[in-house]
Amino acid sequence: SHKSSAQIRQEFLDFFKSKQHLPVPSAPVAPKDDPTLLFTNAGMNQFKPIFLGEQPGYKKEGEVWRRVVDSQRCIRVSGKHNDLEEVGRDTYHHTLFEMLGNWSFGDYFKREAIRWAWELLVDEWDLEPDRLYATVFGGDEEDGLPVDEESIALWKEETGIAEDHILKFDKTDNFWEMGSTGPCGPCSEVHIDLRPDKERDQKPGAELVNMDDPKVMEIWNLVFIQFNRQSDGSLEKLPARHVDTGMGFERMCAVLQQKRSNYDTDLFTRLLDKIGALAELSYGNDEQTDIAMRVIADHIRAVSFSIADGVSPGNDGRGYVVRRILRRAIRYGWDRLELKEPFFHKLVPVLAEQFADVFPVLIQQQEYVINVIRSEEQSFLNTLGQGIELFEEMTKESDRISGEQAFKLHDTYGFPIDLTQLMARERGVEVDREGFKERMKQQKERARAAGKFTVDQSSQKQWITVHDTGEFEFTGYDELFSDVRIK
Ligand code: ATP
Ligand code: MG
Ligand code: MG
Ligand code: MG
Repeated sequence: SHKSSAQIRQEFLDFFKSKQHLPVPSAPVAPKDDPTLLFTNAGMNQFKPIFLGEQPGYKKEGEVWRRVVDSQRCIRVSGKHNDLEEVGRDTYHHTLFEMLGNWSFGDYFKREAIRWAWELLVDEWDLEPDRLYATVFGGDEEDGLPVDEESIALWKEETGIAEDHILKFDKTDNFWEMGSTGPCGPCSEVHIDLRPDKERDQKPGAELVNMDDPKVMEIWNLVFIQFNRQSDGSLEKLPARHVDTGMGFERMCAVLQQKRSNYDTDLFTRLLDKIGALAELSYGNDEQTDIAMRVIADHIRAVSFSIADGVSPGNDGRGYVVRRILRRAIRYGWDRLELKEPFFHKLVPVLAEQFADVFPVLIQQQEYVINVIRSEEQSFLNTLGQGIELFEEMTKESDRISGEQAFKLHDTYGFPIDLTQLMARERGVEVDREGFKERMKQQKERARAAGKFTVDQSSQKQWITVHDTGEFEFTGYDELFSDVRIK
């Protein structure tokens, strides 16, 4: 029998505890003091002040720790990291996932990080070395950055990896930057080739970069922060060098439990069982049904933890992202699983219990989260059926949804534009997005003229453009604060 996910998480934490790391709690999914970030999308977010040199290390009870270990709940549905369209369709991208990480704040560096990664994967967890690949930074001429020979040498010295399993990649994949300025450095990723032996006669080699084969999967990113990017673009060596790693926990569970998909691990089975019970269906018989069940099982995690962490569904900013995810799940339930009554909130207790010891915030807020979701479901269900009917009519007449029509679906029936687009894609019809945006702009102008529009001056809303266009557009990264780019 295989290890449970709880055991796997604990073994990660214990392994690094044995290397003198302090276990620390996850930050909430909505960063409190960081206006550059909508949702926590990597383990490093909460440690940003340490990398920036504003804090010497992790402070706990008057002591400063330079080695910590944690599991961070992350959400990737916006900005530079938006995996939403992948969710449910592939088997290893989630809206909310756990990123396991070990951290060195100016303490150990590449040698230990690489040695310990290998030790955990191969010695502790018995992964076959033959299936593992390490990618390293292959240099960048423009930046005057050399190949990360140091990491190449360390993979050879510190691990048993075959030389031809060390692959060089460019800046896009293997150089991590916080943004246009600030701490940055090369990274080294571990990928696992889970193809059956027969197929493995073809070595993946350089094609790994495309990750085209779903059975070749990235499991761990080791980032070596050693430079500070100046505003003129030049790189300075940092006095303190840091290690920032991120392991995909759900992926690791799939690997160690020898499952084809993250959804076949014990992290998702109880949720899928519950969804199956509610819909009187079972998982694994029909691909379209399965996609819907996976999407719902995934989305309840993002929605529940967002609400528990203080972000309720709403009309703008973070709240609109949550509303969008929730409505997406409800539509899948209605359309594919015949779930026409509120059902989504019934999954919360399953999740809360499962995470009681890991992220207790959910079980503590359980009743509240259930109520928020239930009422949000109820209100969307009031219009969803009619909205779908209207959508059907529209697509009967034409293979293009006009801006006007998309606007009507949005304004009268509460369909976020990305939901209309998703439904359109399923039918092979197009949506006039520009026309939709235009209608939204006009509506805003009318409201402004009528004096109904109030500008919200809270810091968050200055850099998030949401309801103006009716879709979620996070402009903060590119337009205002270009100082955060998460690995
Ligand atoms: P991918 O290339 O698979 O999208 P990534 O390079 O964007 O992953 P990183 O930013 O390096 O991911 O994050 C560290 C680790 O987190 C990855 O190695 C992967 O195992 C995991 N991970 C990233 N995105 C997701 C996601 N949406 N769902 C589940 N795990 C994820
Ligand atoms: Mg990604
Ligand atoms: Mg990647
Ligand atoms: Mg990566």
